[in-house]
Amino acid sequence: MNRKFKNNFWKKVKIPKDPNACWEWKGAKTSRGYGKVFNKGKTLSAHRVSYRIMVGRIPKGGYICHKCDNRGCVNPEHLELGDRNKNVKDAVERGLMKSKGRLTETARNYIRENPYGLSQRKLAEVYGVSQAKISKIVREGETNDNRRGNGQHG
Ligand SMILES: [Zn+2]
Repeated sequence: MNRKFKNNFWKKVKIPKDPNACWEWKGAKTSRGYGKVFNKGKTLSAHRVSYRIMVGRIPKGGYICHKCDNRGCVNPEHLELGDRNKNVKDAVERGLMKSKGRLTETARNYIRENPYGLSQRKLAEVYGVSQAKISKIVREGETNDNRRGNGQHG
């Protein structure tokens, strides 16, 4: 997935001021309400693409489900690999708590991607951390881009 594809992808996502809320897909949708996106003649599910960009590789046959029950949502924090039966609300709430102060890997990826071009001050405000921390994450992202999704935290 190249930069151009990613840029076009984020243009079709309505990211709310609070990144913990649902990110609505503004592009085409399937009859079942899932966002769809075209890449090299293939139709891909928007939420799977989002997961792929922000969280990491999806194992072969892997199923990405929505913790928030909103099929048009592509917020990576609301997406989860496998396990359709998990308690939805519980999981979303846990995700919210994690993102206060201590940033999840997904939150870090959001900050690096910064699809809406928010200022570092704004990002710091949204995530409840210092601006220095945001700046550090951005700089780390530039050097450690290929370490993404391997479960490391720092
Ligand atoms: Zn959602």
